[in-house]
Amino acid sequence: MDGQKITISNGKLNVPDFPIIPFIEGDGIGPDIMRASLKVWDASVEKAYGGKRKIVWKEIFAGKKAFERIGNYLPDETVETIKDYIVAIKGPLTTPVGGGFRSLNVTMRKVLELYACVRPVKYYKGSPSPVKNPEKLDVVIFRENTEDVYAGIEWKMGSDEAKRLIKILDEQFGVKIRKDSGIGIKPISEFGTKRLVRKAIRYAIDNNRKSVTLVHKGNIMKYTEGAFKEWGYEVALDEFRDYIITESELWDQVIGDDGVTPTTKPGAFAELRGGKEAGDPGDRIVVKDRIADQMFQQILTRTDEYDILAMPNLNGDYMSDACAAQVGGLGIAAGSNIGDYIGLFEPTHGTAPKYRGLDKVNPSSLILSGVMMLRYLGWNEPADIIETALEKTIMDKKVTYDFARHFGIKPIKTSEFAEEIIKRM
Ligand code: NAP
Repeated sequence: MDGQKITISNGKLNVPDFPIIPFIEGDGIGPDIMRASLKVWDASVEKAYGGKRKIVWKEIFAGKKAFERIGNYLPDETVETIKDYIVAIKGPLTTPVGGGFRSLNVTMRKVLELYACVRPVKYYKGSPSPVKNPEKLDVVIFRENTEDVYAGIEWKMGSDEAKRLIKILDEQFGVKIRKDSGIGIKPISEFGTKRLVRKAIRYAIDNNRKSVTLVHKGNIMKYTEGAFKEWGYEVALDEFRDYIITESELWDQVIGDDGVTPTTKPGAFAELRGGKEAGDPGDRIVVKDRIADQMFQQILTRTDEYDILAMPNLNGDYMSDACAAQVGGLGIAAGSNIGDYIGLFEPTHGTAPKYRGLDKVNPSSLILSGVMMLRYLGWNEPADIIETALEKTIMDKKVTYDFARHFGIKPIKTSEFAEEIIKRM
């Protein structure tokens, strides 16, 4: 079938009824979960639109499959195609630890300027969970995707570059570093932070969410993570003043006479709250911040006080998996990498190589990444159909090994799970 390209007009995606969407199968468990997911996505679109709309899939190559066919793990053509078609979806790709080539995922995020890694984490009824009230978790993580120690600026112990840097730091800055050190650099910029936080706040406004929390380790890393927090508040106040209230304003806190200590001045910001009591934001989005280590306990102990989370790259990586664990694990963890317009959707997990080709793992992670993609296209009907059917399937205990082992029941295969979802649409 002939499809058309998605285009951009007036700052918005223009989605034809038969959009061409490139997909990368992925390594390891990628082919198993992609095969299952494609069936589910197609069935939901057919169910919703009865043939009036349909995705025209276009396979593109990265990872092992690209290397075998083209001799390159990430062909330029793949990157160019994603740029050209604007919306794409991918399975996980292998990254060797401690050597080999640089992460293909990190490279794609950087080259395509996909600066926001957006990962919603919420509970689907019936999923196994290690916590008592998993339904309390409903967050969307906005993880910065191009900076931080993740930018991959690092040199091996003993390399010429590492030796030179150690020498410069010693001679020019008086900083002593052990000679047998590898060196990594952690850049966090005002530009990178502001565009990420801007996207998170915009999302909170568009989706009627309650708060945006800036998660950082600024008490220790003042000029990177601490600056992330400061710049985050700046965007909130400079660009979204009519929509937000900061946590200190919420509680009528002003800086005291010493210029540092917050003190309470009742009613100081009552106007921002629409006359409501201190602690009640009215219809405003609360912008707050938390130190990362304490955030890991807060998300367990005061789960429903958090909503949209914006954070630097490394914290965001940890937080996504930790949140996923509360609602059923990586098998159900969806994600996306979003730039100004381009959206590349992918599960949070990796290639789980030990399960490769066994038709065994949970495809929900990729299926739900597709749900995010459908919503990105503005196709909410098939997205709703999938979410409802997937929840029914889990509640009927038709589940893959990861959920089945918690219930002590016999698992079904990846492909069978997809069929069960389709049956329930
Ligand atoms: P992983 O592939 O995410 O797998 C870790 C564990 O998570 C699995 O052993 C399995 O747990 C569980 N899991 C992952 N996917 C699942 C699914 N669909 N259904 C059910 N359970 C699932 O992490 P890894 O083994 O550390 O990484 C493997 C490779 O993937 C590495 O090369 C890494 O760099 C790469 N990676 C790629 C991406 C990406 O493409 N965006 C992201 C992360 C990692 P059990 O063992 O308990 O069953």
